[in-house]
Amino acid sequence: MLIRLSEIEDVLVVKGEMDIKRFAMTDDTEFRLLAPVSYELTVAKFDDTVTIEGPVTARMSLPCSRCLEDFDLDLSLRMAIKLTEKSASPDAAEMELHNEDLDVYYYEGDEIDLDPYVYEEVMLNMPMRPLCREECKGICPTCGKNRNTEPCDCPEAPLSLFGEKLKSFLN
Ligand SMILES: [Zn+2]
Ligand SMILES: [Zn+2]
Repeated sequence: MLIRLSEIEDVLVVKGEMDIKRFAMTDDTEFRLLAPVSYELTVAKFDDTVTIEGPVTARMSLPCSRCLEDFDLDLSLRMAIKLTEKSASPDAAEMELHNEDLDVYYYEGDEIDLDPYVYEEVMLNMPMRPLCREECKGICPTCGKNRNTEPCDCPEAPLSLFGEKLKSFLN
């Protein structure tokens, strides 16, 4: 959604849905959206700084990293970013390097497109190792069965070399 800074009097509350089709899904994004990514963002402008803050929610289906079965995930996050007008800082490129971990972005002109920022927040908040449930038993490394649905009698897999080392270290 496009917002116009000149139309912000005090603060602007923007409620909307992100158009996911605009963003090319790369091969490593295995999720499928079950409901649109929706947001309710408060946009405020002070001099040459714009803050965008508020909840973002999404419902998606993605494979569990242990058992590989698809499961539904409700993603709910709170985004808070700050944008500075590009022309206001002549050394913008240099500052960008320094501000990399501060969630500071730059805008130019009167319009800000919210969707790319919302998309980025969603991607940043995706679980690294999604689990269908905390106690997911995963796939048996010996027979390949999903141990959540088909318990097998295979002996417990021996500890990996790293595991053995860690164990002797801890003892
Ligand atoms: Zn699982
Ligand atoms: Zn097994």
